Amino acid sequence: MEIQEKNKFVEFVKRFGFVIAAALVLLIVGLTFGIMALTNGGQTPSVPVVNKPLEFSMPMQNASILKDFSSTELQENVTLNQWEAHLSIDFASENTAVYSVLDGTIESITSSYLHGNVVTIKHDEGFVSQYSSLGKDLLVKVGDKVNAGQKIGDADSTASGETDMGNHLHFTLSKDGVKVDPNNYLDLQNK
Ligand SMILES: [Zn+2]
Repeated sequence: MEIQEKNKFVEFVKRFGFVIAAALVLLIVGLTFGIMALTNGGQTPSVPVVNKPLEFSMPMQNASILKDFSSTELQENVTLNQWEAHLSIDFASENTAVYSVLDGTIESITSSYLHGNVVTIKHDEGFVSQYSSLGKDLLVKVGDKVNAGQKIGDADSTASGETDMGNHLHFTLSKDGVKVDPNNYLDLQNK
């Protein structure tokens, strides 16, 4: 009787052993993938959402550059009679309208003897643009949302540090708190 039982078992394993092994393998693989899927599902995706690249528009139309950006070469400031690095670009145009170069929010509006009326706009990706030597009639106030290409005011000669250039825009661009060369971002060749 016992021997018969044992033989039955051996017979069963012989017949179905492969099927059982295959079923076990499938179960383990299934569980592994299931757990992996659950673990990934619980995590925030490691790949950040890619925003569409920022498209800069020009701060003035048909503008000519009176003084270019230079971080290493000193340039003469005729008004102040001194040589200084110019971490900005001075633009002038017959059309004095000044436009935001990107979508953003008006961060501050200040006025000083040296820089005149200054509008600072905060943008995405750590960019901040600053428009100095503007006239007093500004079209924006702190907290306003602006679009790229939206007029914010007019170029003037309120920056006493640069009166030799007449009506112009002293434009400064920063990224992550560091002043950067606007030539690398604005399409100044096709202006
Ligand atoms: Zn300047």
